[in-house]
Amino acid sequence: MNTRAGLALAPEGIRLIREPPGSRQHHPRAIEPTPPASAPEARVVPDRPRTTPPPSGGGALFDWIIVGGGPHGVCAARALTAGGASVRIVDPSGALLERWGVRARAVEMVWMRSPAGHHLDAQPVSLHHFLHRPEHADVAELAGRLRRPTHEAFLRHSREVVETAGLDRSVVRGRVSSIQRRNGESIVRGDGLELRGRRVLIATGSNTPRIPAWAKRMRDEGAPIRHVFEGDAPLDLDLVGGGISSVQRALMVHRATRRTVRVWMRHPLREAEFDFDRDWTKHRFAAEWNALDESARIDFLARHGGRGSVPGGLARRVERAVRNGSLRVAHELPAFEWDAATQELRLRGSEGAVRSSGVTLLTGLEPEAVSGWLRSTAEDLGLPVVHGMPRLRADMEWGEGIHVTGSLARLRLGPMAPNIVGARWATSLLPGVRMQPV
Ligand SMILES: Cc1cc2nc3c(=O)[nH]c(=O)nc-3n(C[C@H](O)[C@H](O)[C@H](O)COP(=O)(O)OP(=O)(O)OC[C@H]3O[C@@H](n4cnc5c(N)ncnc54)[C@H](O)[C@@H]3O)c2cc1C
Repeated sequence: MNTRAGLALAPEGIRLIREPPGSRQHHPRAIEPTPPASAPEARVVPDRPRTTPPPSGGGALFDWIIVGGGPHGVCAARALTAGGASVRIVDPSGALLERWGVRARAVEMVWMRSPAGHHLDAQPVSLHHFLHRPEHADVAELAGRLRRPTHEAFLRHSREVVETAGLDRSVVRGRVSSIQRRNGESIVRGDGLELRGRRVLIATGSNTPRIPAWAKRMRDEGAPIRHVFEGDAPLDLDLVGGGISSVQRALMVHRATRRTVRVWMRHPLREAEFDFDRDWTKHRFAAEWNALDESARIDFLARHGGRGSVPGGLARRVERAVRNGSLRVAHELPAFEWDAATQELRLRGSEGAVRSSGVTLLTGLEPEAVSGWLRSTAEDLGLPVVHGMPRLRADMEWGEGIHVTGSLARLRLGPMAPNIVGARWATSLLPGVRMQPV
């Protein structure tokens, strides 16, 4: 199932690995992704006052309590409410898609990585129809063979999905810390919050930035090394990471500082339209996946996780930026030398040492595991956990009335479970939902 291959040495000195030609569907009308003249700024969905209904939910019994207001929570809430279910969505921000917006801004995401069929509405063609409306002509462009929409188009469409379904009125601010079952109901609790639901959907996303062991050691000694998703990372001129986020961030830092930004990556820049095999989103893959036993699935997940890559259009921009001196791409991880007394950080690569004022890690997120409050909930309710992941039934049910989507559902759905297409698959399998995932 792994189709990436082919090593080429680009004349500019960036090494690239390209997808083999012809391994993907051909879309003659698609264009190559160049950034729009004024790149649409990534914006968080709610531009209006946040709604925070009474946390207690007034003691009412809802059909579904959704824990987490990210893309997975929204996609499920949209489909469940369309089927007539009453829903409450709990999120610490009290808003929907908040964390999505924060992370997209941190890497100045202009284009989605996924095709236009991957969105949060129930109908597979919903985003295509949205883009055909005259008022969205400014964001109607689609990129590359996969016909990827702009991030702004995805956000506007998501905002419309949220508004049409009235989901803002269903959001409750809070961080869930336990789920109990009593008399066929779930009691969901957390910081002053108590909600009752017939069913619960856990949609808490990926919560842990991936920080390599060497970086942890350096940070313990006080070195200025931070992960891009840990908060307001400063505009460091040294970045570590070999995927789309690192090069997008590098271009953004260069634009903001006009200084040369160094990107350190262990491997050549891999060129691929999508960050996983597109076959994994298809019905045939789902059937093959379901036929695998658990150990084969665990093995597959271990072999196919987290390979950084960039789409062709972005790779061309990186090549140009290297040629004009805006970026330097080093295909190695430097040795880090931190002098706590002088607070001086030096990065030593094969071409010598450079002083650095700080390093930003763009090393992605850890695959989510059952830990913290989820682990104690699993223990209390006797919910099965395999290799740190929930063992889910066909309808994404973990234990009576408790369902799971997102990164935690990898064992059930495969490597694309955390992505938007994973949200669509998981939602389509929930009880009471009628929806075509793709
Ligand atoms: C920069 C970036 C770009 C991406 N681009 C794409 C793309 O183009 N296409 C694609 O398919 N995928 C993409 N992904 C991958 C994936 O779609 C996203 O990570 C997406 O945000 C996953 O959605 P989610 O709802 O599972 O998680 P999140 O967006 O993380 O949302 C989970 C929510 O749950 C909340 N939460 C956590 N714990 C609790 C708790 N105890 N109680 C209540 N709430 C809680 C969190 O605060 C958060 O708001 C991208 C990821 C990143 C980081």
